[in-house]
Amino acid sequence: MANPPSPFVKAITGLILQFVVYGLLVYTWYIYVFRICVALLIQSEYPNIPAGAVLITFATIFVFMASICYTRIIYSDPGHPEQMPNLQAVESGTYQESQSLLPRYFYSPSLFDKTTMSNRPLQDAPMLPALSISEPNGMPRFCNICQCVKPDRTHHCSDCNLCVLKMDHHCPWINGCVGHRNYKFFFLFVSYTGLYGLWGLCSAIPLVVIAMRDHNVTLDPQWIVFLVIAFVFGMTVCGFSLAHGQYILVNRTTIESLSTRPDHVRVDFDTSGHNYEVVNTSLHDRFWNVGKMDNWKSVMGEHPIGWFLPVYYPVGEGKIFPFNDLSYHKILDQAKQQNDMI
Ligand SMILES: [Zn+2]
Ligand SMILES: [Zn+2]
Repeated sequence: MANPPSPFVKAITGLILQFVVYGLLVYTWYIYVFRICVALLIQSEYPNIPAGAVLITFATIFVFMASICYTRIIYSDPGHPEQMPNLQAVESGTYQESQSLLPRYFYSPSLFDKTTMSNRPLQDAPMLPALSISEPNGMPRFCNICQCVKPDRTHHCSDCNLCVLKMDHHCPWINGCVGHRNYKFFFLFVSYTGLYGLWGLCSAIPLVVIAMRDHNVTLDPQWIVFLVIAFVFGMTVCGFSLAHGQYILVNRTTIESLSTRPDHVRVDFDTSGHNYEVVNTSLHDRFWNVGKMDNWKSVMGEHPIGWFLPVYYPVGEGKIFPFNDLSYHKILDQAKQQNDMI
């Protein structure tokens, strides 16, 4: 496995990429506003100031929002699990979490609090069987590099050399990972950038064609630069945004969508830590899909106005996610069957 880049190389690469991203947004905005809208609409032989104002206003909003979202991504940590305080106990399989020997992170409907996306204390409610993604032998998923137990949906990023909560993918354009805490900002960034590209492309092409064909305006080479970049933003980034919109609606990360290895789910029947079964699931099982609206809110937040703004982190620490009822009971039935056969 290749060594991850040194912190110095990573920092320099990050600065260059940030310069490129902000530079592309600002430079294309300059061409669009001054060389296209002002030159061909507002200061033309037959000026159309209202149309020019509308085009400039929307493009400016899209560029402004894309820049803010990009800034939010690069200054937001995606979230990481904490290191284990008692590593030897984890390795020997005997570590103890406060009152029980349950896995460190588990989902149990009676203990799970949707408003905080975390578990209530064990004594507050009877524990129904608890589910957690585990190794095939039932041991917790452990990262030897980060020395931590990996919560469900956490993966180790070899580029960042860190475990990332609800990791979606490593993104070269932010020189870091997209995960639990910055996924919303990433989605908004690609959405606003894609909208900007589409807006620019659809409005600039007719303006340029009409100017050259009907008014004998000479070709400005910077129009070509704008149209090429707007095409990339409008087609590629917009496609990316649509794909991620779909992922959000079905509550699936990019890694989970590309995974070819089904998960093993450990089902603890009580808090002893010994009475459990490991169920082999299938790739078609979608544990985290809890309905389109709840899936959407789990990433974008409760309030519709906040859906469009790079504000609010998602609720919860990103360490426990509710299984949908269908998957929970299917896995539970399978575990009971296995248990009865012993
Ligand atoms: Zn790790
Ligand atoms: Zn990464």
